[in-house]
Amino acid sequence: MTADNKKRITIAYGDGIGPEIMDATLRILQAAEARLEYDVIEVGEKQYLSGNTSGISDEAWSILKTNKVLLKSPITTPQGGGYKSLNVTMRKMLGMFSNVRPSRSYAPYVRTHFPNIDMVIVRENEEDLYAGIEYQQTPEVVHTIKLITRSGSEKIIRYAFEYARANGRKKVTCMTKDNIMKHTDGMFHQLFNEVAAEYPEIAADHYIIDIGAARIADDPERFDVIVTLNLYGDIISDIAAEVSGSVGLCGSANIGDDFAMFEAIHGSAPDIAGKNIANPSGLINAACLMLQHLGQADVAAKIENALLKTLEDGIHTGEIYKEGLSVQKAGTREFADAIIARLGQKPQHFKAIENEQSKTLNITVRPTAPAEMTQVGVDVYVHADMANGPAELVEKLKSACEGILKLKIVTNRGLVVYPKALSESMLTDQSRCRFMKDMDYSPISQQQVVDLMVALNKAGLVINKTEGLYFMNGKRAFSLAQGE
Ligand code: NAD
Repeated sequence: MTADNKKRITIAYGDGIGPEIMDATLRILQAAEARLEYDVIEVGEKQYLSGNTSGISDEAWSILKTNKVLLKSPITTPQGGGYKSLNVTMRKMLGMFSNVRPSRSYAPYVRTHFPNIDMVIVRENEEDLYAGIEYQQTPEVVHTIKLITRSGSEKIIRYAFEYARANGRKKVTCMTKDNIMKHTDGMFHQLFNEVAAEYPEIAADHYIIDIGAARIADDPERFDVIVTLNLYGDIISDIAAEVSGSVGLCGSANIGDDFAMFEAIHGSAPDIAGKNIANPSGLINAACLMLQHLGQADVAAKIENALLKTLEDGIHTGEIYKEGLSVQKAGTREFADAIIARLGQKPQHFKAIENEQSKTLNITVRPTAPAEMTQVGVDVYVHADMANGPAELVEKLKSACEGILKLKIVTNRGLVVYPKALSESMLTDQSRCRFMKDMDYSPISQQQVVDLMVALNKAGLVINKTEGLYFMNGKRAFSLAQGE
């Protein structure tokens, strides 16, 4: 905080429509007398193309870390070339574990089939497929790792319930795909049930993500707070925003223990960049979330009320403009001017926003209890040509592992091809070979794994990777193969 009670924050103008919507938002913040000072950093495409594969300079990092709060426009991540997504990097490096994405409808002024949407998606922000751990294993096969932790999952689930409690929300819905991913999504769902039991005043339910996403598209008004994993949250928040009126309307808060970043949920929209037609509402709403976070809920309310009044008055950007509903099609700049002109006014139709200071949420995650871990086998992924079927590979594997471990199954694209071929479907050039001591899951030693690797190597097999198979506290902690 500076001497005159202003908070110093970091601003990033971003790419595509980023500079236009940021300019609009900063003009509104200034006119509303937000108690802010800015440091501007350059992130995104220019940084990437100047050879910085992370999209941000060291100097910008240090400004970000000093100020702790960032208001950011969307950026363009160039395709290919080893560029890492800066958004993902920032969320992870700064520990911003929670991505809070409110969606609401602005009916009847902004066209939507659903006039009463009022949901908040709480998306896990650091883990899942967004850990960005990918490997091309063979010319045919590429793997990505879906990394889920117990404490990361519990933290976001607790955040969702604490958020619901602090904001007077009535229900938290969990969405996972645990019918397929029983260990990753299954753990998330299980933790959800455990945490939900501690909040008896808040209703809790669960949807498989596919039907959950369909229901958001078809019946979004039934949802209140939704908590979900990173990838699902990314997808369903675009659906929620779009059915509420436009992807251009929603802002988001990325919250961590020390840092916070506020941005629109949409991307850099290169198709409309530089045309003064982008809707700045997403970033304006993000800026209001930021003001609440910084203890300036009075300013946030002033801006939100002016935004609501502008929408009510039928002043709309092109993508929400509708003959009969809208009065004036406004460009990005003119839309911001209309908001500025209405600062201090309250909406007539919409409920006016009162000072809604965001509350500090107390998130305490239970420590992970140590487990009794017993290794009962090892999966070895080998690169092998299967053009003539699995027989040749199986023979090599069996003779190599003799006296060390037994070959239990071989799978290809997840399907068992040994001991019994379950399908004639296409075989690829990587097989997963499961070795155990016996069929009763007896313990094996690290030395047996090492001896097996040596033997497979001697037999001329190309090992791409291995996975340990464990029992945890007496329970199988790995999936069976399809057909095992
Ligand atoms: P996008 O969200 O940029 O655009 C999708 C569609 O929505 C486009 O038709 C666009 O014109 C429209 N749209 C988006 N924002 C709008 C607004 N404010 N007003 C009016 N219309 C709007 O998604 P995309 O095209 O898939 O991605 C473009 C780029 O943005 C990619 O490089 C992607 O990596 C990046 N991206 C960045 C972020 C971020 O920085 N947080 C998030 C998502 C995507």
